[in-house]
Amino acid sequence: MDKKTLSFQAEVQQILHLVTHSLYSNKEIFLRELVSNASDACDKLRFEALDKPELWEDQPELNVRVFFNAEAKTITIRDNGIGMSAEEAVAHLGTIAKSGTREFLGKLEADKKKDANLIGQFGVGFYSGFIVADRMTVETRRAGAAPAEGVRWSSTGTGDFEVETIERAARGTDVILHLREGEEEFLSAWKLKSIIGKYSDHLNLPVLMKKQTWDEEKSAQVETDEWEPANKAQALWTRSKSDITDTEYQAFYKQISYDSDAPLAYTHNRVEGRTEYTQLLYVPKKAPFDLWNRDKRGGVKLYVKRVFIMDDAEALMPVYLRFVKGVIDSADLPLNVSRELLQESRDVKAIREGSTKKVLGMLEDVAENQKEVYAEFWAQFGTVLKEGIGEDHNNRERLAKLFRFASTHADSGVSFADYVGRMKEGQDAIYVITADSLSAARSSPQLEIFRKKGIEVLLLTDRVDEWMLSHLYEFDGHSLTSVAKGAVDLGQLQDEEEKKQAEAAAEAAKPLVERLKKSLAERAKDVRVTTRLVDSPACIVADEGDMSGHLARMLKAAGQDAPKSLPILEINTEHALVKKLDSAEGSERFDDLANIVFDQAVLAEGGVLEDPAAYVRRVNALLVG
Ligand code: ADP
Repeated sequence: MDKKTLSFQAEVQQILHLVTHSLYSNKEIFLRELVSNASDACDKLRFEALDKPELWEDQPELNVRVFFNAEAKTITIRDNGIGMSAEEAVAHLGTIAKSGTREFLGKLEADKKKDANLIGQFGVGFYSGFIVADRMTVETRRAGAAPAEGVRWSSTGTGDFEVETIERAARGTDVILHLREGEEEFLSAWKLKSIIGKYSDHLNLPVLMKKQTWDEEKSAQVETDEWEPANKAQALWTRSKSDITDTEYQAFYKQISYDSDAPLAYTHNRVEGRTEYTQLLYVPKKAPFDLWNRDKRGGVKLYVKRVFIMDDAEALMPVYLRFVKGVIDSADLPLNVSRELLQESRDVKAIREGSTKKVLGMLEDVAENQKEVYAEFWAQFGTVLKEGIGEDHNNRERLAKLFRFASTHADSGVSFADYVGRMKEGQDAIYVITADSLSAARSSPQLEIFRKKGIEVLLLTDRVDEWMLSHLYEFDGHSLTSVAKGAVDLGQLQDEEEKKQAEAAAEAAKPLVERLKKSLAERAKDVRVTTRLVDSPACIVADEGDMSGHLARMLKAAGQDAPKSLPILEINTEHALVKKLDSAEGSERFDDLANIVFDQAVLAEGGVLEDPAAYVRRVNALLVG
């Protein structure tokens, strides 16, 4: 192929612009990114060569070499991994934008520190070379291709890049950075070595640098022709737990997660028995930007007998634990295992179950012993963990114990166990209310009687809560009861006197209830007298088997059809407005008042009026009349 000039894809151009103009802190990560790409390329070769041993080309020792030329002001990162064909170089280094690109651009613009570290989180690491280089040259040959099929890619990181075919004997890739003016500090063996030690110690392959010796005559360090490893090159998880320091665990986490924070907790175990595997799993402190992407595969890398097989092996973790990062190294799976095979494998099922238990155990431990840390975890990942209730039946009870809520008694952090411990004498059910926000939940009229009697109600305001309630019916033998559904049955929480009063009130209000039913026939399924209200004239509740108003609204907002079911209107016969209603003369005035009471109950519950103009008209008529 003759030399061709091609344009970067539009989003890639934006990235390059930001990378070259605005990343000032943590510049050194370019080396981590390029070494990590080199290491990935070696992993890919190892993997492809399982089926095609000829790809080894009699060169089975994989490594990465880093060297520099002080006069030419270049740094080279060389690997003997899989390499790239011309098409691959064009696609991967210029024209295909990654899925995370847009998020990356947004986040980078918002980041005040202009932290280059962000780059690794979004899978655009190659371009980080332009942080320190004003030209990058890549020379590469794909494993198995003829020497005449080498490729040179070159760019100054502005609008275009060039590609051409070259003769190249060596398998793999050289990435050559032509340093910008002012970046000469990186032309130092000591500097490069310390960056490699910092970020690439736990890579599974050696990163080599030229050995230095002291030259007496020159009174300086000089390079020899010998190569020596600049990193430990031993996979951390294969070492024994007692030999690994906390700092090493943290460094490894940063390497695999690109997270600049330390992990919240981790667990490292060798599991023996029917299936043998090692797991090193981390819970991050902060949720990643794409936590809500349902297609996100999760963050666990699969190795088989220390050979890297794949990133984000979703079959190894349930979806609701997709925030867990780490490594699972299996001793039993075949090396050529595919994603499809993973889904079906019994070994994988055992690994997933075992790993889930470990993660839950780790969270239980934090919840028990580090309450504040657990609160942080819950704020970040609680909503995802709740998905587990429907997904993971076997661990339902363990999960429910880990849940935390706001309630009428505390702003946050209430567990089911806390709640049960505070239940009133004679209380059987765990009372909950769902709403769009805490303030809406708190001001809900349905809570009035509970507040008056000092009975705690859990306030559920996450979108997944309704869904959670459809899978979780009880905790520790106490049913979860929505206060916005069905008639309130406070059971033994009401004394005989109160029950009698309620019955008498219902009896006395019969004529009023009949009138209301007629007047609101189109809008309410039923009308009844309630004892749940103290300060409000009326409220709306869903019938026992119907969907709550909150859930119906959520479905509607998500563009789905909610089955249309009319709500029940409950009235408080003690309230002045209801008394006024009872004494209203003339059917038109009664209708107006009845509709106002109904509309207000809808509004108080967080609902939207179907005909707001009619409501305003009626209220105005009332105000002037
Ligand atoms: P990522 O590594 O997250 O995929 P990068 O921007 O760092 O994103 O790299 C883009 C792609 O370029 C890689 O996925 C890979 O296909 C290719 N690539 C980069 N460096 C090398 C290399 N040293 N050898 C082979 N392919 C490489």
